Amino acid sequence: MKKIAILGSTGSIGTQTLEIVRSNREELEVAALAANSNVTLMEAQIREFHPRIAVMWSAEAAAQLRVRVSDCQVRVLQGMEGLLEIAVMPQAQVLVTAIVGMIGIRPTIEAIKAGKDIALANKETLVCAGHIIMPLARERGISILPVDSEHSAIFQSLNGEPAGRISRILLTASGGPFRGWNRERLAGVQVEDALKHPNWAMGRKITIDSSTLVNKGLEVMEAKWLFGVEPSQIQVVVHPQSIIHSMVEYIDGAVIAQLGVPDMKLPIQYALFYPDRRKMENNRVDFYKLGGVTFEEPDMETFYGLKLAYQALERGGSLPTVYNAANERAVALFLERRIGYLQIPELIQRCMEHHTAVEHPDVEEILAAEQSVYDYIKGLV
Ligand code: NDP
Repeated sequence: MKKIAILGSTGSIGTQTLEIVRSNREELEVAALAANSNVTLMEAQIREFHPRIAVMWSAEAAAQLRVRVSDCQVRVLQGMEGLLEIAVMPQAQVLVTAIVGMIGIRPTIEAIKAGKDIALANKETLVCAGHIIMPLARERGISILPVDSEHSAIFQSLNGEPAGRISRILLTASGGPFRGWNRERLAGVQVEDALKHPNWAMGRKITIDSSTLVNKGLEVMEAKWLFGVEPSQIQVVVHPQSIIHSMVEYIDGAVIAQLGVPDMKLPIQYALFYPDRRKMENNRVDFYKLGGVTFEEPDMETFYGLKLAYQALERGGSLPTVYNAANERAVALFLERRIGYLQIPELIQRCMEHHTAVEHPDVEEILAAEQSVYDYIKGLV
């Protein structure tokens, strides 16, 4: 029986992870769950999956949950202390990081130190702290199993081949709902338009990030850390059908790809059972109906959030943190309708220009860089 702890169990990835558990009850068990404030769904999850520990980030939510589940055998904790306790609890072998944002950094580091494998969806963790997490995982013999569909595709296409044999990683992108648009048209984009992704159903923040191509920028950074390649070896390829989830080109020119219908449950399940596979129903590609697949170069002038990601990655140090933090805050402001759509990349650029990068930042310096971005944006908006 494999026991898992899930950070972000009430979100898009979290609930799909629990669907996998539901379909594999004899092999998977839930040791702990954590969320921010969704008490109602957390209560339902506790009653169905019987975790030992449940964490709510908000103190108020934790207090409410304690009352609601007083008849259950579960300890309800709160805040970072709770997340860290879940990360190191001896009853779990795998930590699924399905939380949004940099809040995942410390629990991920502690889980690695405690010997847990990581099923990693929380890409922000690697973007900001890849230089800390990957060497630590290697040193402790821990597997970082990608949940992001593109990175799972690369992982599956690599199938153990060493980084030295990789010529390029071809990271596919749907292009989002505004593919082919110019800046003039983008200026009028409203929250509702940006929340409509053509192929994937995801959480709000990542859906906006997909529309700006900032999500692809974050994925470029994630790929660098996961697969040990240089930024120049990662090429983004727009593929609107989202059937090819990414590809690896080897030094001899062979290209290996992983294909499938757009369904996050496959990469989640692959990460949970790696190196094994389990049966999954209703997710087959119908090649007769598909007709064709197409490819394009991304428009990095209009969607320059992607270009900024390459610049942040090339410069390194604390600049990827600044890129990520500026985007997080800008997306939150856009969702609150306090800034326009085009101000998202604009704010990222201004924050990057304003920041003096710190080399090899430790966790404290990463969090300080994040805070300095938030303060700077507060002064701007
Ligand atoms: P959602 O917004 O759907 O879910 C976020 C989850 O994190 C919720 O359970 C939320 O709780 C919880 N959460 C947020 N803040 C905290 C906190 N401070 N403490 C504890 N829990 C918290 O996000 P997604 O599932 O879409 O994305 C999760 C991560 O996975 C992101 O890093 C994203 O980039 C990545 N990812 C997502 C994909 C997708 O298809 N959705 C694909 C690939 C990667 P609550 O519900 O209470 O707010």
